[in-house]
Amino acid sequence: MAQGLKTGGCLCGGVRFELTGALRPIIVCHCGQCRKQTGGTVAATQVASDDLVMLSDATLTWFRASEGAQRGFCGRCGSVLFWRPDDRPVTSIMAGALDGPTGLAIEKHIFVADKPDWYEITDGKPQDPQWTP
Ligand SMILES: [Zn+2]
Ligand SMILES: [Zn+2]
Repeated sequence: MAQGLKTGGCLCGGVRFELTGALRPIIVCHCGQCRKQTGGTVAATQVASDDLVMLSDATLTWFRASEGAQRGFCGRCGSVLFWRPDDRPVTSIMAGALDGPTGLAIEKHIFVADKPDWYEITDGKPQDPQWTP
């Protein structure tokens, strides 16, 4: 687990945050919801929600794409930032939102059964057809 303070934010700077706790290794999601929202795949780390400290949330917008979870993004520039389940005190942070070197690596791929036909997964990391916590 990577330790220490990490910062991140959206493309326009309306949303800025810091992460004060340990970061989970990155999980890449190939589901249809992530694909529609981002235009591709989502690569995310995760923190305890208490370890996500907002420095600016002026343009932060939440969208409930499915029962049980919300997706946080910038309502001005469109950057995809967060995924937060209702039933656990954790928040996924999109890895691309983090500033600078992260010290993180991909741990596995999830919802591979939903993967589109226009790319292959070739990094040799474990592939879960759905998601097994
Ligand atoms: Zn923005
Ligand atoms: Zn997904």
